[in-house]
Amino acid sequence: MDTIIGIDLGTTNSGVCVIRDGKPEMLPDEDGQTILASVVGFDNQGQLLVGQAARNQAILAPERTVRSIKRKMGQDTTVTLGEQTFTPQEISAVILRTLKERASRVLGEEVSKAVITVPAFFSEMQREATRQAGELAGLDVVRIINEPTAAALVYQPNTDCGERLLVYDLGGGTFDVSIVQIEGGVVEVLSSHGDTQLGGDDFDELLLEHVCDQFQENHGLDLRQLPAARSRVLQAVEEAKKALSFEPCATVSEEFVAEKEGGALHLNCEIRRSDYEEMIEPLLKKTIQCVDNALDDAKLHAKDIDKIVLVGGSSRTPLVHYMLEEQLQQTPHQEVDPDLCVAMGAAVQGGLIAGLDVGSVLVDITPHTLGIQCRSLLHGLPSVFCFAPIIPRNTPLPATRSDLFSTCVDGQQNAEINVFQGEDDDVRRNQPVGDFLLEGLDESAEAGNEILVRFELNLDGILIVTAVERVSGLEKQLMIDNAITQFRESGQEDARAKLDGIFGPPRDPAAPTIRHDDVPEETKQAIKDAIHLLNKAQQVVPTADPEDAEELKQMIEQMEEAIARRAVETIHEIGPKLEDVVFYLQDA
Ligand code: AMP
Repeated sequence: MDTIIGIDLGTTNSGVCVIRDGKPEMLPDEDGQTILASVVGFDNQGQLLVGQAARNQAILAPERTVRSIKRKMGQDTTVTLGEQTFTPQEISAVILRTLKERASRVLGEEVSKAVITVPAFFSEMQREATRQAGELAGLDVVRIINEPTAAALVYQPNTDCGERLLVYDLGGGTFDVSIVQIEGGVVEVLSSHGDTQLGGDDFDELLLEHVCDQFQENHGLDLRQLPAARSRVLQAVEEAKKALSFEPCATVSEEFVAEKEGGALHLNCEIRRSDYEEMIEPLLKKTIQCVDNALDDAKLHAKDIDKIVLVGGSSRTPLVHYMLEEQLQQTPHQEVDPDLCVAMGAAVQGGLIAGLDVGSVLVDITPHTLGIQCRSLLHGLPSVFCFAPIIPRNTPLPATRSDLFSTCVDGQQNAEINVFQGEDDDVRRNQPVGDFLLEGLDESAEAGNEILVRFELNLDGILIVTAVERVSGLEKQLMIDNAITQFRESGQEDARAKLDGIFGPPRDPAAPTIRHDDVPEETKQAIKDAIHLLNKAQQVVPTADPEDAEELKQMIEQMEEAIARRAVETIHEIGPKLEDVVFYLQDA
């Protein structure tokens, strides 16, 4: 049987994959890159450029370069490159041929058969244009399949029992969501929704606006009006955007970005993930609306979905995971690289057509969420027992993630880093895996002094936790051996039983979430008064002498714990004492 390759012909990027030893294997170019930028152009000598080389020249020679040709497939139109004009099929054929040649080189045989993927919303004309492009590239297109079908096949190549998957595909220029049913090896798209004008490029534009506004404020120059500078900034913000998927802040830095009155101007702008998330949230809300529409069309509810599968580079954005989890009440799967998932699925389809035995392709992931203890709101009330996830469960390994935390009081000298694994918002219901103290923080810093906490988890389950005070660079590290497995077996049960003994049994997951409204009126009033008192106490801490401040902090912690547990008796016990101390210190 001839080899059948799988090709993802994407708007931004494309890739080719084949089944080897029962597993999909992405085929790399000579430089080891598996992704091919879907960009075609001619250099100034008339030489054909495909991929990154064409992408690089897009900034300098847009008239000789074409990108996102997929958007024009099926249209009766042409694009001009220098002196020549091309149909969209011809441009797509150049990309397909590059991938065909790559496959033939890597596999050491002439490859001529392919499965090619298209978006579920593609019309017959667009599908036909894709088939023609394949033929122009010298390929026998044995099947055209939908991208969500391909993604589903990667996660479930041989399932006999029915499963419903929600495939959320957020790429550079388009967004799609499909509900897919797999039964007895047959994949059916039940419903599909999307927005052909929404993707990572829009996020880049929002960041560009933000950075250029700041630059204009500082230097009185609008970089958006200078094409070369604009392109450089656009590339730089895209890099920053990608970094923000793993880091809490990123810096956009470009030297000599412009000139003013004979002097060079440099761009240097820090972006926080929280600010970035605020910018893109309205766009992501639109994608969630599409998810709801797709569920409605398929006459299904969130609980009918067995798995959420993430596809497309922009689905790496943490806010995407967050919003999906909130909406559908389950953690999305991201075990397979979202950039490669579709090409892999096309290869799985090719393998199935060729009669190959295709096995599971899933990679190692973290089975539990890893994070640290912090002070924040727990069920709407302040608590010191909040769990701040850093590496969410189902993240492929190795994984590095970090987040920013702040000190609670002025002049705070130490920060305790308590590492937990588990899924509960309350650390007391998760498993402790290690702790350490970052000592010697800047004494002159006010509350809000930032501490960066980085988790690096490798394939062997070794977790390296690093805490860094941002202003001074003061750093401390802890290595935790076997962070993944240490509580997996019997230890987990014992630890749970022990904690249940102390704090009562965990909440039944089917039971409604305890909201503030469910709390008796009397308890609510006691908690309200206690929070008011806590706020007063926290304001007094900075002005108190060290001994009194220490005593006050201890009482604050006791009170916070009592509030978190809604322990009215304890609140009534500590309240008057705390009130006395606050009263005494306020007047001192
Ligand atoms: P695709 O069309 O699936 O190839 O996706 C390309 C888009 O994914 C581009 O907008 C990229 O900037 C974006 N992208 C790639 N990696 C990341 C990342 N780590 N975080 C956020 N966006 C990313």
